[in-house]
Amino acid sequence: MKSLKRFMKITVAALIIMLSFSSASFAALQPGGPSTSGNTNINSTLSYQDVVKILQDIERTSKGKVEVSTLDQYGKSEQGRSIYVAKIGTGPQKIWIQAQIHGNEKLVTEAALQLLKTYANSGGKDVERVLEEATLYFIPMYNPDGAEMNIRHTKLANSGKLIDLNRDWTANGFEAVESKVVYAYWADVNPDFAIDLHHQGLKQIYGTNESTSFSLGVSLSPDGPTLSGTRYNDVTKQMMSYVYDELKDYGYTHIDRYQVGVNREAGTGYDIDIKGGVVSAMMLGLNYNNLNPEGHSHPAVFFETKGNTSDGSLGQKSNGYLTKQNYLALKSLVYGYVTGEVDNVNPDNWYNIPYYPLAGYFTDYNGIVPVGSDSGY
Ligand SMILES: [Zn+2]
Repeated sequence: MKSLKRFMKITVAALIIMLSFSSASFAALQPGGPSTSGNTNINSTLSYQDVVKILQDIERTSKGKVEVSTLDQYGKSEQGRSIYVAKIGTGPQKIWIQAQIHGNEKLVTEAALQLLKTYANSGGKDVERVLEEATLYFIPMYNPDGAEMNIRHTKLANSGKLIDLNRDWTANGFEAVESKVVYAYWADVNPDFAIDLHHQGLKQIYGTNESTSFSLGVSLSPDGPTLSGTRYNDVTKQMMSYVYDELKDYGYTHIDRYQVGVNREAGTGYDIDIKGGVVSAMMLGLNYNNLNPEGHSHPAVFFETKGNTSDGSLGQKSNGYLTKQNYLALKSLVYGYVTGEVDNVNPDNWYNIPYYPLAGYFTDYNGIVPVGSDSGY
């Protein structure tokens, strides 16, 4: 009996090893497929079909408050999937919320859907206020192909080239059809404000050993080469400060400013100043194909939640709270924007959000621009 048990144990162990190897080599065969070192279980995250089903359920039970549609009139994804949008609210302020432009950044979709559900079903005073003052446009899964492949990019149907959709809103024209589709919709909606949801790799809060759970970002850095002196320099600082104050005391949440290339020893980090990012292009009023001849623009910010599903840094245990902090940040920023509370924030509170002393700006138009340099453009 004992030896049989032992034999079973060994066999099961061997099977598990074989299975993990075979799935690893399978992944390795797919160009751009899931990282073989990552082993995050994505079964607990939402598939494209799940998202479509949830959207339909929310619409059906919302008593007419939520309108779900596809962007098929503008086109479909490279692999032919419809991009879904949900609209709720009756007010004049238009708020755009997009999630999962990077297909391996998954919990943000869940957070966006949870917030949509709250707006659809809750009779709370804060919710009523938001829906009276604003109309919200949710794109819970901007990149359905990347989501299904569990990769950051989308893949061009004709060449197989991988495209980062968040670097594709450029004046030179869009490479991926998803960009054309969502841009055309954006130019029709003309939002007043946008929030973009992401995941990032592991990082620590400057000067502490705390792992960052949430970073607040502006993709054209406030005070940086592009935004300085524009009307969005202060308002983006106010928005991020507002969220920081609302969330900093929420349990297990360690919030900082979004930065890249952080170096703990040197105590330095870089802000990003990229023009081809979707929310950057929104602030720059990108006019592509003459779809935005007035050069309509608006402030836009992004959130970064810890971990993603292809580097294996996302654990099922923490998924609940990571989703919750995203949900709460979104909900509070929308409320603060709609009620005008954001306008009352001192923009200098931006510097209270922990950040690594700034060494420069990481750009997509001029490499790394050191702080104090005039070579921004
Ligand atoms: Zn991302």
